[in-house]
Amino acid sequence: MRIAIASGKGGTGKTFVSTNLFAVAEKEFHNVTLVDCDAEEPNVSEFINGKTISTEIIKQHLPVIDKEACVYCGKCRHWCNYNAIICLPDNKQIYLIEDLCHDCGACLAACQYNAITEIEKRLGTVSVKQCSNHSRTIEARLDIGVYSPISVIKAALNKAQDTEIMLIDSPPGISCSFIATIVPADFIVLVTEPTPFGLNDLKLSVETLEQLKKTFGVVVNRTGLGDDRVYDWLEEKQIPLLMKIPFDKNIARIYSQSRLLVREDPSYAIHFLNLLKAIEGLCKK
Ligand code: SF4
Ligand code: SF4
Repeated sequence: MRIAIASGKGGTGKTFVSTNLFAVAEKEFHNVTLVDCDAEEPNVSEFINGKTISTEIIKQHLPVIDKEACVYCGKCRHWCNYNAIICLPDNKQIYLIEDLCHDCGACLAACQYNAITEIEKRLGTVSVKQCSNHSRTIEARLDIGVYSPISVIKAALNKAQDTEIMLIDSPPGISCSFIATIVPADFIVLVTEPTPFGLNDLKLSVETLEQLKKTFGVVVNRTGLGDDRVYDWLEEKQIPLLMKIPFDKNIARIYSQSRLLVREDPSYAIHFLNLLKAIEGLCKK
């Protein structure tokens, strides 16, 4: 079972939900992995201790164009689906926009003049931490200044394939990095808050998941804030409301001290276990 915990908006409590779910799943299942795919700002390790057992450097290939050998035919530019190459034959100029390159290799195959070679560029790291004899975390971490986290996220997800329960802490928003984490998921938990911003971004996330035909439910965090519009909308759309977490100073304090609520308050251990069972039930439907 692969469960992605996502939110259209940052700061709604996605990592709070995924780390607490991990703590209850560890007690229920034999093989549990939490993959921190918020690669621009991974923080699962603030809450879950583990011993680092491996760190892999993730790289991509980057084309290098030899301007002496290039005849400015433009074929590489035509073959590049990501508009990463600018070729100006009249001015005899050709440029690569590194941040747009997706390492597809098409330009290398296209060039008949051997004007393109490749170098490796470091993107980030994927670290595996053993938390117990049957649970681990995997962290995708993007290097500072690297534009796209997709390759690092995919490498982290690949490392988690042999697991009974995979929890995925998705990046916020609905961009490509979010899509990369929800495509392999069997179920998506959308975490929101009952505010106009929360509802707006929830609607965008739901629209995306509906287009991808994904099964999902919603956790509303900080209930008591804002208004009832998010609940009315969920009811109207018949979207399962999986759990409500109150706006509570004690919960905020526990989280700010990098502690897990389910370990501090047994009633929340039951609530999160019920959440896990509800997801399991919806996955089987
Ligand atoms: S490797 Fe692919 S994405 Fe990168 S510049 Fe070449 S064709 Fe474009
Ligand atoms: S395909 Fe080769 S020769 Fe043609 S523009 Fe690209 S690099 Fe230059």
